[in-house]
Amino acid sequence: MSRIGFIGVGNMGKPMVKNLLESGHSVKIFDLSEKAMESVVGLGAMSAKSVADAMLGVEFVVTMLPTGKEVQEIFVSRNWIGGADKGTIFIDCSTIDVAAALSSHSAVKNAGFDMLDAPVSGGTIGAKKGTLTFMCGGEKEILDQARGILVNMGKNIVYCGGPGQGQVVKICNNMVAGIISLATAEAFVLGEKLGVDRGVLFNVMSTSSANSWVINNVCPLPGGIPGSGKSSDFAPGFSSALMLKDLRLSQDAADISGSSTPLGAAAVNAFQQHVNNGFGSLDSSSICKLIDPEIT
Ligand code: NAD
Repeated sequence: MSRIGFIGVGNMGKPMVKNLLESGHSVKIFDLSEKAMESVVGLGAMSAKSVADAMLGVEFVVTMLPTGKEVQEIFVSRNWIGGADKGTIFIDCSTIDVAAALSSHSAVKNAGFDMLDAPVSGGTIGAKKGTLTFMCGGEKEILDQARGILVNMGKNIVYCGGPGQGQVVKICNNMVAGIISLATAEAFVLGEKLGVDRGVLFNVMSTSSANSWVINNVCPLPGGIPGSGKSSDFAPGFSSALMLKDLRLSQDAADISGSSTPLGAAAVNAFQQHVNNGFGSLDSSSICKLIDPEIT
């Protein structure tokens, strides 16, 4: 069993820690939110006083933070990793831009440690069930050493390539998820306005060529429908603000690589408008409110 420091116990981090604890690991956590800390300490985790404290006396440090800014603060701009035990492996599971991932890898390497970028897909449902997919970038031997704890949080542990390559795969995945979410919302609103019951639309689309992970797990409709699992108030889940962040990452990556992503650009515009309308903290499935503000 391993000793693990875990930084960032929000919507994703909390269930991931729960799975680590239930697998018998000891986990020391830190989060800027006291409320988030309390609920995870209640599950049996130890409480760290600071980011640096969470890194002391552990074999692995997992970070699950909102953006590249927080990740870079920990690995690049502050000297927080210096106190870690020799051989500690750093695993960043946040979804961040490739440049921030690369600068974090370099800073960790320069401090004498190893790192993986290991963003995840599967959402809060996958985090709770321990069925996340980890997209890992870094040295393969380091992934082999980390695999023993990653399998307690996910079922697909995929080696994507060198430093930053996990983030590349994740950004591509989430660009598609954002586009599909928007497209599915458009189709439901269209079908309903033409008089078809949403349950009928769901039954057919979720088993036909419109089928997707999005429609079955985070169907963009209020109140949820059988199989969608969403609550009526659009509590996140995966917030619209985080979806917008990931879609923007895809467009930055498209610019840098000279790739054409017109549908990704359309999804950025839609989610930007949705966030501007004040819905950033709602689950990303609330994008249906942009298509039809009156939808109930
Ligand atoms: P969240 O906002 O619910 O949780 C982030 C946590 O980090 C918060 O509790 C916050 O207080 C804490 N935090 C922020 N800055 C910190 C710092 N400097 N030190 C310590 N704690 C700090 O976000 P989330 O939904 O858990 O997502 C986390 C990451 O996972 C994001 O990069 C997101 O894009 C990615 N992700 C989320 C989902 C999802 O469905 N929610 C799915 C896949 C990937």
